[in-house]
Amino acid sequence: MADKELAKVYEPACVEEKWYREWESKGYFRAEAASSRPAYSIVIPPPNVTGALHMGHALNNTLQDILCRWKRMQGYNVLWMPGTDHAGIATQNVVERQLATAGKDRFELGREKFIERVWQWKGESGGQIIGQLKRLGASCDWERERFTMDEGLSTAVRTVFVKLYADGLIYRDNRLINWCPRCHTALSDIEVEHEEKKGHLWHIRYPIAGQPGRYVTVATTRPETMLGDTAVAVHPEDERYRDLVGKKVILPLINREIPVVADEYVDREFGTGVVKITPAHDFNDFEVGLRHGLDKINIFDESGIINGAGHQYEGLERFAARKKIVEDLEAAGLLERIDDHGMAVGGCYRCKTVVEPYLSLQWYVKVGPLAERAMTAVKEGKTRILPKQWENTYYDWMENIRDWCISRQIWWGHRIPAWFCDHCGEVTVAMEDPSKCSMCGSDEIHQETDVLDTWFSSALWPFSTMGWPEQTAELKTFYPTSCLVTGFDILFFWVARMMMMGLHFMDEVPFTDVYIHALVRDAQGQKMSKSKGNVIDPLTVIDAYGTDAFRFTLAAFAAQGRDIKLAEERIAGYRNFANKIWNASRFTLMNLVGFEPDSIDAATLELTNADRWILFRLNETAREVDEALTSYRFNDAASALYRFTWSEFCDWYIELVKDDLYKGDNQRQTTARYVLWLVLEHLLRLLHPIMPFITEEIWQTLPKAGAGFVGRGSAGADCKPPASIMLAAYPRWKQEWAAFDDGAAEMELVMAVISGIRNIRGEMEVPPSKSIAAVLDCKSTTSLQLLKKNEVYIMGLARLSDLAIGQGVERPTDAALQVTGDVEIVVPLKGLVNVEEEEKRLLKEIGKIDKDMEFLGGKLENPSFVERAPADVVAKEREKLAEFANKKQVLAESLEKIRRLK
Ligand SMILES: [Zn+2]
Ligand SMILES: [Zn+2]
Repeated sequence: MADKELAKVYEPACVEEKWYREWESKGYFRAEAASSRPAYSIVIPPPNVTGALHMGHALNNTLQDILCRWKRMQGYNVLWMPGTDHAGIATQNVVERQLATAGKDRFELGREKFIERVWQWKGESGGQIIGQLKRLGASCDWERERFTMDEGLSTAVRTVFVKLYADGLIYRDNRLINWCPRCHTALSDIEVEHEEKKGHLWHIRYPIAGQPGRYVTVATTRPETMLGDTAVAVHPEDERYRDLVGKKVILPLINREIPVVADEYVDREFGTGVVKITPAHDFNDFEVGLRHGLDKINIFDESGIINGAGHQYEGLERFAARKKIVEDLEAAGLLERIDDHGMAVGGCYRCKTVVEPYLSLQWYVKVGPLAERAMTAVKEGKTRILPKQWENTYYDWMENIRDWCISRQIWWGHRIPAWFCDHCGEVTVAMEDPSKCSMCGSDEIHQETDVLDTWFSSALWPFSTMGWPEQTAELKTFYPTSCLVTGFDILFFWVARMMMMGLHFMDEVPFTDVYIHALVRDAQGQKMSKSKGNVIDPLTVIDAYGTDAFRFTLAAFAAQGRDIKLAEERIAGYRNFANKIWNASRFTLMNLVGFEPDSIDAATLELTNADRWILFRLNETAREVDEALTSYRFNDAASALYRFTWSEFCDWYIELVKDDLYKGDNQRQTTARYVLWLVLEHLLRLLHPIMPFITEEIWQTLPKAGAGFVGRGSAGADCKPPASIMLAAYPRWKQEWAAFDDGAAEMELVMAVISGIRNIRGEMEVPPSKSIAAVLDCKSTTSLQLLKKNEVYIMGLARLSDLAIGQGVERPTDAALQVTGDVEIVVPLKGLVNVEEEEKRLLKEIGKIDKDMEFLGGKLENPSFVERAPADVVAKEREKLAEFANKKQVLAESLEKIRRLK
């Protein structure tokens, strides 16, 4: 047969590109709308169409890809549904910034032209993240790629809106909302980021009407809002102000009379116990205003500029107004004092501008009944949230949920399908654009200008992407989806809302599992951010180390409930792992020239202990990986594979088998070749979900057996091997290999003995080329027999010239000794080392360490270092000192041994 070869060095870039193109063009990522195979489905958390691949995406999508590739190889009909989100404000901002550089704004362009412009931008530069996901190896069914504003999804959005409106679950109300004066839009509560900031508490005197010279002092953190005060309030049981309730005070600077009201909301301990009430600009005051029937005076325009209601301050920006008002109060002698005061200030999650509580007419979803069902579904176990501690967070939020403000005052998004009648005021909400008012028939109607919150369309993602409201085969096959993989930061924005919408419209949960993964932080555990300059770019990492090494790193660190501290050295470490696999495969292939698996009758082969051991361990590894992936312990799957590949297959088995390959008889050689091939072939399949590219490249060069593959491409009588490792079956635990545990246990002892001799060689600095003698003194006959049986391995791998195995054997006087189980390893040292030289060398090394320890010890006793240096630096130095002490101890022991030889 024509045997293939692997390149000398693994070059990820060209291998990755080649295989990705092949997989995609052959349709291996494709899901079948209907199939006899069991279904497995995941919908991608749609990245923003403005997005570029960051570490969060890389982790999130690597984990999804591992699950999808694994399930596909297990024979499932896998749908990984991809797509992007139109990302309302974010995308609008991008295009607005572009306009701004040309000195224009969106109002100049007008709504229609502006939206055209955004679509044009999307066509040209949107969705670059899709190409980046492909570089990551993401095996999404790209032919099904969706966009939250494509035609189908827009129909789904409209259907949902109309239905919820008809059900009385969507309403309009004039309320206080969080308003971003820069983005000119409402923000939902969770779109506001609160930050503790230093502020002031201004104490202002409000004169009492009709009682010249008397006043009450009001404490406020926002003096400028006094322009909109419509009352001051005291606690009803506050004796100090009892006589004031029902009287009036004069609003300073404006000279408007406002009432004093009593309300239990007032905290008697705060400031003076008298507070100003500004219903149009404070959430609590809004409620007080409702209870006392107070006017709501809006003093700002949409940009946070004082409007006509602010009299002489009209036209001032809000913070400029604050300054001027404080100055004027001071000049009027009405400013009593200013205290420092810390407080939480809300900022827009998009642009960080301080948000303003703002009175406006908005659309809301009544979430109470929806949330109830979404909570029950998790309680009943219909959806599992993993790790489990997130379930409590989910319940907490659901219990305290407020109605969802879904309208946004921007242009890019799903325009709300509601029409207002100019004649009778009726609101018409319909699937088809109406031409007349549904109440009076007037044709003087106009559409709502607001668009829907971006999360409204993504809340429908699990079923809208599958063709809903049509009853499609995809929905039947893939809904509810199997798993959602996401970060905790969008548990509320997105996951909770998908639960609500899924249950309401599909009558079933959208996913059976929600796996919440951790954050990727920098090596010090800091959040990655542009301003800190500690961002690691996934694409740079892929270029430098290859995708597989990067993916393996992410999987290896994805421990549940623990953030990932990512350092580039880690990725470099896993590149070495990829190279290790490559080199082991090259070795294997070199020994497989002319090898044809199908010509071998495995039943007739006589397996050695080493063979039985490696097959037993391979089998155990397959079981561990399966269990780990089943319970989303990606790190455990990675570490089982790493250990098996490196410490068992490469470090031991390949070494153990060399003798058979080079010196064994025909039968031994064939067996060794067969097992080597068998293990590598299985290992590649086990590794494929985490390291898709390198495994495919190697697997393609390996000889294939026709039988024994149960994959997608291999159905049919002729049992041809599949065309890609993607289509091959994922290795499962086999009963027959589990029976090799006896051979495995024996081999463990043999390897321990070899390691013991190697340790002695290392300690005594015996050069690798030099053969030595060893004596093995066994306590039990079992060990004796076992070691005798494996003498040849021990001789070869420990590089021995002589080996005596016995019970109670005579020992040489000057010897190094190690104990392994019930076996004592004795290595005679006489003649092995040059005693004089070795003694000199050891003394020199000990002298060097003494100096280092003295220096470091002095440093650590110096209080000015210990107190001033950062704690982690001090801790590191202490560790170093302990390491030195350890090393010194080992050297001293060696010295003692050497001196005994004199
Ligand atoms: Zn903003
Ligand atoms: Zn009408």
